Amino acid sequence: MSSNLRVDHVVTSGTFSLDGETHEVDNNVWVVGDDDECVVIDAPHSVEEIVRLVGGRQVKAIVATHAHDDHVRVAPELREKVGAPILLHPDDRPVWELTHPDFLWDVDLEDGQTIKVAGAVLKVLHTPGHAPGAVCLYVHDLGCVFTGDTLFEGGPGATGRSFSDADVIKDSIRTKLLDLPDETVVHTGHGPDTTIGAERDHV
Ligand SMILES: [Zn+2]
Repeated sequence: MSSNLRVDHVVTSGTFSLDGETHEVDNNVWVVGDDDECVVIDAPHSVEEIVRLVGGRQVKAIVATHAHDDHVRVAPELREKVGAPILLHPDDRPVWELTHPDFLWDVDLEDGQTIKVAGAVLKVLHTPGHAPGAVCLYVHDLGCVFTGDTLFEGGPGATGRSFSDADVIKDSIRTKLLDLPDETVVHTGHGPDTTIGAERDHV
């Protein structure tokens, strides 16, 4: 593992639209890597702010935790700027097509798949519910999990809109996330970090 392995973070602001409504929203962008290479998790709102966070490193992949427009809006533009493929779980195709109807992402994600960067391993956990193709990324080497909009401080992500299901998200969290160690840091798609132990009673 690289001694400079780290997580970098920026909050970008913009909008989220679904079901005919548009809301102002702040999104977390996470970058996992070392001084030489990295993986970008989600591509909301501002390609310039993400490129600044990457800081000239080689981007191995742009991973979308799900395809809501506030997570994938600038993914194609970022792909052009950094020359990296976009990875998304194929169950989110109907959601992706709401934002990018004319082309697809590059590589399908699947449950249990691993993505290697800077000597670390990101394990893909398919966690449907907030969106059918929602995924979390567990990084044992860093003791953290990136949950997108599946798990927040306070409990599960929203399931009131199209393509969402409250029972499915709870099942996903119980079967895929709650068996991680209590001290695992949860880096979310919006708002502050939490831990698996802190959310155990909220699901
Ligand atoms: Zn979402």
